[in-house]
Amino acid sequence: MQVYLDNAATTPLDKEVLETMMPYMLEHFGNPSSIHAHGRQVRSAIEKARKTIAGLLNTSPAEIFFTSGGTEADNAAIFGTIRSLGIKHAITSPLEHHAVLHTLESLAKNGELELSFLHHDDKGGLDLEHLEQLLATKPTSFVSLMHANNEIGNLNDIQTIGEICQTYGAIFHADTVQTMGHYRHDLQKLPVHFIVGSAHKFHGPKGVGFIYTNPAVKVPPLIHGGSQERNMRGGTENVYGIVGLAKALEIAYRDMDQHQQYIQGLKDRLIHKLKEQVPDVSFNGYSAEADKSLYTVLNVSLPVSDINEMLLFKLDINKISVSGGSACTSGSNIGSHVLQGIHSDPNRGAVRFSMSKYNTPEEIDYVVEKLASLY
Ligand code: PLP
Repeated sequence: MQVYLDNAATTPLDKEVLETMMPYMLEHFGNPSSIHAHGRQVRSAIEKARKTIAGLLNTSPAEIFFTSGGTEADNAAIFGTIRSLGIKHAITSPLEHHAVLHTLESLAKNGELELSFLHHDDKGGLDLEHLEQLLATKPTSFVSLMHANNEIGNLNDIQTIGEICQTYGAIFHADTVQTMGHYRHDLQKLPVHFIVGSAHKFHGPKGVGFIYTNPAVKVPPLIHGGSQERNMRGGTENVYGIVGLAKALEIAYRDMDQHQQYIQGLKDRLIHKLKEQVPDVSFNGYSAEADKSLYTVLNVSLPVSDINEMLLFKLDINKISVSGGSACTSGSNIGSHVLQGIHSDPNRGAVRFSMSKYNTPEEIDYVVEKLASLY
């Protein structure tokens, strides 16, 4: 048995998505900027995809711009807004993805920005009173806080964060890469300036994503060049990627409740069996609490043992693909900034299991059996 439990890193492409993409690789190859029939046909597929995404998120197609993925979308929101509005202060959390952290840090290093980090508890739960305190002293800040953490799965209350930002007139960007296609986002209700999506996290193709920009914020072009994406992002569009992205999101919304229930069932099974069979097991962050974490992610903390250093390798030779994330700070083994941030014991093993609709209860049982035999 070969088991893939690294779906927070990337998910397998859905065959239905591939079938939708294929004609745009073969027959419909025109350049969408061309005015002839070949071009027009492809242009209309891009606009249809934009409309589909906007419809699912309850917003207008004019507010959706395609990008090369989550990282580019996060960079666009951060660089574009901070530079064009001349914002001098940003608030984030030390537990953000590097697409956000390194981007904000680069601006701070350049002297363009003062950066404040939000306090959090020892499970990574954000201190929203601290957010209010920070905004009370610097109201016109840029706030970037993710919807769900990609390593420990913690869900942050972006509705409340958005309302706090609104009260103080702050700009709010939420990295929604891990929740897009897994939870519903209603942009008529969510007070946010930017959210983002990346197709490969919900069974779409790699290298394509999008950014939602609230019309209240005027963002400069993401990439200078031609007039593509209404002058916002020059360059010939990734047509089959865009078509696949929209199809993947459509399927994700269509089947969301059923998949959520199924995957939460797998996660519950994993928690239950690990507790039963692996000595001294615990869970990092809020990942074992159903109402506080992604149903797709479980970050497991394993007992202190000699095998921890080689843990991912040992799982790999047992045909189990997962992500690590040790809190190790020494030598060349650069640990996870998230596990370090929540002061996870660096001597314990850490494995992130992330599940999708394609995983089975038998795979969960196999993984627990292997882990039990290792410990
Ligand atoms: N933000 C989060 C929370 C992520 O998990 C990821 C991917 O791991 C990204 C951003 C980057 O997305 P992409 O791989 O599409 O650039």
